[in-house]
Amino acid sequence: MSKTERSRIARLAGSVRQKLGASSLVVAACGAMIAIVMVGLCAVSLYQGRLDAQDHTRDTLRDIALIAQRDIERNLELYELSLQAVVDGLQQADVMGLPPRLRREVLFDRAASAKYLGSMPVLDESGNIVIDSGSDTRRYGNFADRPYFIVQRDHPDAGLYISDPYESRLRSGSPSIALTRRLSHADGSFAGIVLLAVNLEYFHALFAGLSLGPHGSMSLIGRDGVMIMRQPYDPRIIGRNISGASTFRRFMSAPEGSFSETASIDGIRRLYWFQNFPHAPLILMVAAAEQDFYAAWWRRALTIGLLMLAFGASFVGLSVLLGVQLRRRMRAESELQLLARTDGLTGLNNRRSLGEILDLEWRRAKRTRSVMSLLFVDIDRFKAYNDTYGHQAGDDALAAVARCVSESIRRPADTAARYGGEEFVVVLPDTAASGASEIAERIRNAICECAIEHAGSEYGRVTASIGVVSRVPLTKDDLTAAIKAADEALYNAKATGRNRVSQSQPS
Ligand code: GH3
Ligand code: MG
Ligand code: MG
Repeated sequence: MSKTERSRIARLAGSVRQKLGASSLVVAACGAMIAIVMVGLCAVSLYQGRLDAQDHTRDTLRDIALIAQRDIERNLELYELSLQAVVDGLQQADVMGLPPRLRREVLFDRAASAKYLGSMPVLDESGNIVIDSGSDTRRYGNFADRPYFIVQRDHPDAGLYISDPYESRLRSGSPSIALTRRLSHADGSFAGIVLLAVNLEYFHALFAGLSLGPHGSMSLIGRDGVMIMRQPYDPRIIGRNISGASTFRRFMSAPEGSFSETASIDGIRRLYWFQNFPHAPLILMVAAAEQDFYAAWWRRALTIGLLMLAFGASFVGLSVLLGVQLRRRMRAESELQLLARTDGLTGLNNRRSLGEILDLEWRRAKRTRSVMSLLFVDIDRFKAYNDTYGHQAGDDALAAVARCVSESIRRPADTAARYGGEEFVVVLPDTAASGASEIAERIRNAICECAIEHAGSEYGRVTASIGVVSRVPLTKDDLTAAIKAADEALYNAKATGRNRVSQSQPS
């Protein structure tokens, strides 16, 4: 095969390789991109689902907080009315003169005997019990040291005071909060207080009835930061001051709101909803643990995510496989194309390819008005060679001659082809008669120099005769004429003794 052919085939193979590489890469890249888009869309929708779960939980927390707040506010209102009734009753001068039983019935309404109410005593200015809602026989006790007493004594405008949790001395240490109102003499001076003790069991029962998930929590906190009740219930937390905690500072920052934070108490991350009571110094906080309200989402995300990843990976895998198959198929096609143009025995262009090259070069020469030469190479007495040395040896000799032909042409544009049998054609574009003769002579000499023994030849070795034609193409029919002339020149070389070059005369 000549250098021209080699470089042409290399160019062809290079461009085919480039095309193959590019197309299989495009297929794999498209597959990967579709998979990425699919996984991306799935991730976005899962993320949206997570946000929805959070929003839904926040709404639920707000609803729970609202229910609890309304219940507490309604009860506080009732307690306040009861307290006010006592204050009003005591202002009537003759009430204190009534027999104890009647006085109790006048001062304390039925609300004072409600389920979670402790006792409702009236204390004098020294903190001693004067009247007790619970019994006609007066119990003795002094509560002047209690903050709910001190506040009312020292602040005439305190109004309704809600105390921090304390352990009731009258009811054997039962945890309670007190609601107190000030009693005043006619001149405005301090006359004592009326007290209503609410058992913390009320809040405990209220909170326990509201479901917040396995790790949820709910707290009622005084605006001074003292914990009144917490669910899950822990008696050690009741009465603890959390005003220094960062969560508490957030509760104070707005009337109501929500935030997520990891609790220092148990290290669980929760979504909090808090609201300040508008008419009482209380804050209600409800919180749900992320691990609870994201549980369903996590299960769904894990299933969908894994399926999506598997699907995406299979998609990419299939795309790569498709790319590889496409590459193989295109390579096979290009190899077939190459094979279809090449002669199997000699590796030179075959006759079909020669036809195309001749046509192309002839038209180019016609366009550029340049001279083009053709060499017809025919092995001498080859039939006899076959007869003497056998067909296989004949094939080997043919391949050797083909090598001599292709190695004798040097310019990239020159092409050698097997025309058929033991005949070869060399196309020499842009080559005048003298140059063509020179190349023909080089080929003839190279074949002769191969020194392949041929007993049936007058030269004792394999030789070839070459007909040369050089033409400047003018019409389409000129090609047929040129081929005919080359054939005639070859015939002439044969006729004049073989192993020689014969030049066709210019037409
Ligand atoms: P001349 O010098 O006049 O060219 O005589 P020749 O014997 O070479 O010419 P002829 O056309 O009579 O014979 C050509 C022979 O080439 C016939 C055939 O045996 C042989 N041949 C053609 N193709 C092949 C081939 O592919 N392999 C082998 N081994 N021999 C072939
Ligand atoms: Mg022949
Ligand atoms: Mg021959």
